[in-house]
Amino acid sequence: MDLIEKKRQKEQRVVEEMIRLYCRKNHKEYDKTTGKMCPSCQELSDYARLRSQKCPFMEEKTFCANCKVHCYKPEMREKIRKVMRFSGPRMLLYHPALAVWHLICSKKESKK
Ligand SMILES: [Zn+2]
Repeated sequence: MDLIEKKRQKEQRVVEEMIRLYCRKNHKEYDKTTGKMCPSCQELSDYARLRSQKCPFMEEKTFCANCKVHCYKPEMREKIRKVMRFSGPRMLLYHPALAVWHLICSKKESKK
C-alpha cells in the first residue's frame, strides 16, 4: 500500500470517529450496544468516505476539512462542519492519537 492510500484511510478513520462521537452525544438514535450511527450520520459518514476516495488532492492536502477545494455539497458541508466543531476538541479525550494527528495536519495546512 502506498503512502497516499495510507493517508486516505487514516483520514477516513478520523472523520468516521468524529461523526460517531457526534452522533453518540447528540442523537438518541445512536445504538450504544452495536455502535451503529443514526441513519443521517451514517449517510454523512458514507458521503465523507466517498469524497475522500475521489479526492484528487490527497497527495498535497492534509485533511478534507482544510481542503481549499470544497467538494462537499452545501448540505453535507454544513453537517460536517457541525461535527468538526463538536468533536474536534473532544477527540483529544476519546482518541488522543487521532486528535493529535488531526491537529498537526490542521496547523500545517493553515501555515501555507
Ligand atoms: Zn446521528
